[in-house]
Amino acid sequence: MREITELCKRRGIIFQSSEIYGGLRGAWDFGPLGAALKDNVKAAWKRHMIQLRGDVVQLDASVLMHPRVWEASGHIENFTDPLTECRTCNARFRADQVTQGDASTYECPRSDYSLCEFGEPRQFNLLFQTHVGPTQESGSEVWLRPETAQAMFVDFAHVQLTSRQKVPFGIAQVGKSFRNEITPRNFIFRVREFEQMEMEYFVRPGTDEAWHEYWIKHRWDWYTRYGLRAENLRIRPHASDELSHYAKRTVDVEYRFPFAWSELEGIANRTDFDLGAHAETSGKDLTYYDGERDERYLPYVIEPAAGVDRAALAFLIDAYRDEQAPAAKGGTERRVWLQLHHALAPVKVAVLPLSRNEKLVPTAREVADLLRPRFPIEYDDAASIGKRYRRQDEIGTPFCVTVDFETVEDDRAVTVRDRDTMTQERVAIDQLSTYLDERLDL
Ligand code: ATP
Repeated sequence: MREITELCKRRGIIFQSSEIYGGLRGAWDFGPLGAALKDNVKAAWKRHMIQLRGDVVQLDASVLMHPRVWEASGHIENFTDPLTECRTCNARFRADQVTQGDASTYECPRSDYSLCEFGEPRQFNLLFQTHVGPTQESGSEVWLRPETAQAMFVDFAHVQLTSRQKVPFGIAQVGKSFRNEITPRNFIFRVREFEQMEMEYFVRPGTDEAWHEYWIKHRWDWYTRYGLRAENLRIRPHASDELSHYAKRTVDVEYRFPFAWSELEGIANRTDFDLGAHAETSGKDLTYYDGERDERYLPYVIEPAAGVDRAALAFLIDAYRDEQAPAAKGGTERRVWLQLHHALAPVKVAVLPLSRNEKLVPTAREVADLLRPRFPIEYDDAASIGKRYRRQDEIGTPFCVTVDFETVEDDRAVTVRDRDTMTQERVAIDQLSTYLDERLDL
């Protein structure tokens, strides 16, 4: 884990929020490469959850919603974690973590968790509250959404009607969620502001269990397709005492993080709980008329709910390689590199003149301009070629294109280095786009 956090900081992928003020716990910033990585994770999700299907439509709803949404959903009452406080140092922990014995000593001000004495746990609500309008009087409270899902239920009838989708169909949303976590920890694994990728798939009651199985397999295939090794993934069904108040059955997709097997995504059978609750609270009819069967019902919902930040972290961890590789001067040297799936890699192609030489730079810039409209590229002519290869390896760039003296004086060809095999091939500049197109799995 330390290697990953250091690499992320060193390369400006992810670093502490407000760092110059000492940071803010549970908040992280994604730098240029991190932002691109996150965009790629979201694009890969949308591709498989929306674009390649015909039965899922997208929603981009407001973060602030009517307060009654959270009453109906049960969040005001139930969205709590047990909090326990140490009598001697006042540090606060999530009680379930204390009993599991994995509370990190870092959060105890004395850095000695063994001296802590815990009081009785109490329920702590994780919703962030704020106010709308110029006064903070009662009645003006609103909450930052702790999940994106509720908008899909509240907007169900509108979206169904206007998109002319028929059950079974889904509404998908990617966006920020906020939870006042008691103990944010493990880098970007548990934070207070994060992004979710959620889809509510509306089905006819009675078909829900089969659809649940379908989505569990679909989501497993998505993670493995984009690079997570199957041996680092598992499906863990929730025990009955762990189930949320709305769920008939839930499984977690868990990843073997360096700190423990932990949740990447929850896939829940939410039944008609949410549509039922919103129909009751709002007084609006949210039933669906099934024309083919000539019946009216409240659909059941299968929900695959994933976190962008957690997925990005898992992809980074699984891609991390620290190996000995053949060195240019003979022997071997350490090579740290990210074997990211091409579609997730922030930069697809790096264009590197052998040196910052007046003969090489114009041609290298010409090659960069040729590729720029097709792929996210990076042009780099600073430092030695070895150092530049190392940088590209560390950020997982699939191909490096080198312009050398032969290019300009002789063959109008470049050397293309493959990240995974480290093999190099000579490719004519006018063939380069096609060559890369054929090899990049985007
Ligand atoms: P946990 O048990 O880890 O708190 P959860 O079961 O409360 O997670 P869900 O409500 O199922 O999480 O949310 C769906 C997904 O959103 C999670 O699987 C995770 O990927 C992401 N997520 C939830 N809370 C956080 C958080 N505090 N930081 C980062 N991602 C989160």
